[in-house]
Amino acid sequence: MNQPTPFEQIRDMFLLRLSPPPYAVDQPFYTTGSIVSAALMRIVILIALGYALRSYASATTTWTVTMFAVWAVGVYPAWRQYSTFNEAVDTILESTLCGSCRHFNTSNQVCRVLDVHVTSDAPPCEALDWEPL
Ligand code: SF4
Repeated sequence: MNQPTPFEQIRDMFLLRLSPPPYAVDQPFYTTGSIVSAALMRIVILIALGYALRSYASATTTWTVTMFAVWAVGVYPAWRQYSTFNEAVDTILESTLCGSCRHFNTSNQVCRVLDVHVTSDAPPCEALDWEPL
């Protein structure tokens, strides 16, 4: 499979899709950090657009449109993707050995010992480094 360019990676993060892109096969593409980053990028752009809008509309209209856009285009998609991400983490917590290990980091699905993403039922350490919560 082709490796994505940096532009494609930023584009896919920015789009806040509910499913990962096809090239993200061995690591979770969306993490807490990527979701927050995408939401912040969107919100900054929307605020800049709102700032531009103030030349053409009243202050009340500008605020209303900007706040609605920040919610509908910035916050809500990020919240939906975060919910989807949390469901994936919950599945790992409930159904894998890593989910019951103290070294599993839920915010980015990473094993802190090996610094690798946990993406399947099989623990990357082959259970050698497993420690209870
Ligand atoms: S130490 Fe092993 S069991 Fe624990 S999170 Fe890492 S890979 Fe999973």
